Amino acid sequence: MSVLVWAYGDEYEAERAEILDAVDTVFSSGRLVLGPSVRDFETEFAAYHGIGHCVGVDNGTNAVKLALQALGVGPGDEVITVSNTAAPTVVAIAGTGADVRFVDIDPATYLMDPAALAAAVTPRTRCVVPVHLYGQCAAMEEIGEVARAHGLAVVEDCAQAHGARRNGRLAGTFGDAAAYSFYPTKVLGAYGDGGAVLTGGAEVDRALRRLRYYGMEERYFVETLPAHNSRLDEVQAEILRRKLRRLDDYIAARRAIADRYQEALKDTSLTLPHIAPGNDHVYYLYVARHPRRDLILERLRAHDIELNVSYRWPVHTMKGFAGTAAADVRLPATEECAEEIFSLPMYPSLRRDVQERVIEALLKVLSTVD
Ligand SMILES: *Cc1c(COP(=O)(O)O)cnc(C)c1O
Repeated sequence: MSVLVWAYGDEYEAERAEILDAVDTVFSSGRLVLGPSVRDFETEFAAYHGIGHCVGVDNGTNAVKLALQALGVGPGDEVITVSNTAAPTVVAIAGTGADVRFVDIDPATYLMDPAALAAAVTPRTRCVVPVHLYGQCAAMEEIGEVARAHGLAVVEDCAQAHGARRNGRLAGTFGDAAAYSFYPTKVLGAYGDGGAVLTGGAEVDRALRRLRYYGMEERYFVETLPAHNSRLDEVQAEILRRKLRRLDDYIAARRAIADRYQEALKDTSLTLPHIAPGNDHVYYLYVARHPRRDLILERLRAHDIELNVSYRWPVHTMKGFAGTAAADVRLPATEECAEEIFSLPMYPSLRRDVQERVIEALLKVLSTVD
């Protein structure tokens, strides 16, 4: 048995009737593209956050890209982010034609270091993209201060942090815009691709609606470029409407799983997730750290347990970025953490017996490497 196979099977079994009803609702409506389900999901997702506007898009990568473009970011600009993220954060920035600048992380939380951000700003810097990695918010108060001092726009990458809070405030409500992915594994996941951008700004909202729809406001008349076809699919929007009502339950289930890991592993040589003061973590991933990570993963394979590393390669070391100015940087905290982190199975329907089997095997393996 490999415990990472088909993580969503149980969830689909439990929610099947509702998911299929969502599909049937759309197929029967005759409105297959930008219809009532996208509109209602946008209203409901904005309302969940208490923010003015939500624009559904086709995936999280394009959510980041369109958010940047809606704020006027493009060639000649510089955008600061972290290298310790899912590569799409950076692929999206590069897709605007802007130059990427990486800054290091706080080694305890694995999140953007606000002091490193302040030190990296240049006259060309237009925007900062903090990533709420693994499900807890970056230090948004400090990042916001740096942004205000230098006139930078802030785009939050919330792809891993649906429903996360910092000092009571929801992720996605700190910046000028916030980008979400609804990739199936995410805390709020569709049954396929999906994404959205939240913003408080009416003009940004309008720009986003043009950007996702060929640059048009009226049909067949292009108002602005660049532009894309990046619409959220109507079927996925209707599924997301149903699942949004359960978002807080999904988060509670993830927290209960995290609590069990914490309880079982707290007296081992693993470094467990550090929650920054004021943060409510939603545990998109449960990431542990150990200097002998590769040996641990190898020995777990003998127990038929295959664990993920998110992420093994900091983005600035990837071949696709070789030769760019962005790659020419040393990020010691980022590079060290990439060699030591690994993820334990984490999804709301993770069965207790499966989790216990993973814990038991991990404890055995740890006793052989310490
Ligand atoms: C998943 C993810 C994305 C990309 O989302 P897609 O929907 O797969 O395009 C972007 N940023 C982060 C941090 C992610 O985890």
